[in-house]
Amino acid sequence: MLDIADVSDQLTDFPYLQRDRLHTLQMNLGYLCNIACTHCHVDAGPKRTELMDWSTMATALDFIVAQNIVNLDVTGGSPEMNPYFREFMIEAKKTGVHLMDRCNPTIIEEPGYEWVAPFLAEHGVEVVASLPCYTSDNVDIQRGKGVFDASIAALRKLNALGYGQPGSGLELNLVYNPVAPVLPPSQKTLQADYERFLGERFGIVFNQLFTIANMPIKRYGHMLLRDGGFGEYMELLKSAYSAQNLPGVMCRGLVSVDWRGYVYDCDFNQMLEMPMAGEGAMHLRDLMSRDFERQPIAIGDHCYGCTAGQGSSCGGALN
Ligand code: SF4
Ligand code: SF4
Repeated sequence: MLDIADVSDQLTDFPYLQRDRLHTLQMNLGYLCNIACTHCHVDAGPKRTELMDWSTMATALDFIVAQNIVNLDVTGGSPEMNPYFREFMIEAKKTGVHLMDRCNPTIIEEPGYEWVAPFLAEHGVEVVASLPCYTSDNVDIQRGKGVFDASIAALRKLNALGYGQPGSGLELNLVYNPVAPVLPPSQKTLQADYERFLGERFGIVFNQLFTIANMPIKRYGHMLLRDGGFGEYMELLKSAYSAQNLPGVMCRGLVSVDWRGYVYDCDFNQMLEMPMAGEGAMHLRDLMSRDFERQPIAIGDHCYGCTAGQGSSCGGALN
């Protein structure tokens, strides 16, 4: 059977890309997660044991200062399940960097994690919370039974702490990704639907909705291969290529770090173990004084997932 690695290693006709100024450090604190979603491009779940250690986090703190990083974007898994999460965020805040937590909101409802929401609010962390639909059936199909109700309860807690409320300074952004192998709908239209439905039904408010295309890699890629839909989905991404998205793809201004401290051009390349272009595996500690500007970016066919239709990045649609 064709494996996802074989597909990802194929030569690509995706256009050449190079970096701009580096402004964002995205860190994967580990693959441990309290749930296991079907679309997960990380293969995260409750049985994963890979977690970033403190020494790697300390190196990251040095990197933030050395490279004048503006945004620290932590992800996982559920990043809050890393035992050093709080200590790391507190130390990072001292550097003046903007803190972002890619949060699966159900962690807030998990026993033993009651501290998560108040901690994030106390430290002014921007929350980017995944909620792949505003209806319970679609969310539970993709993420597991009961996930929708837990997510709603968690978002209400965040709202009660000021998140998403005008003038609070506590930003709450939601992330949508399609359940089926299709492109996300218009971000603007869907945001209006989310606002109306979540507001009227549950009294939930938020700042922005980010629509993100599913990447045909890892668990989602395997699912497409298993169901025979991989080729069709790739064709869809390629046929919807839009050159105007190219300048905004996220790899131009961020680097992505894995739980061991190795650096990639983006989170997707990290999952494919594709090192930065022209490099072998590079560790954060070896890149303290590296000038990233104008460096080539390692590309593959999966990059069409970032440029299809309205475009897709960790901050949502690109146009
Ligand atoms: S998509 Fe997010 S919440 Fe779901 S398993 Fe992956 S890391 Fe966990
Ligand atoms: S997949 Fe990664 S390297 Fe490719 S365009 Fe998207 S962000 Fe850039």
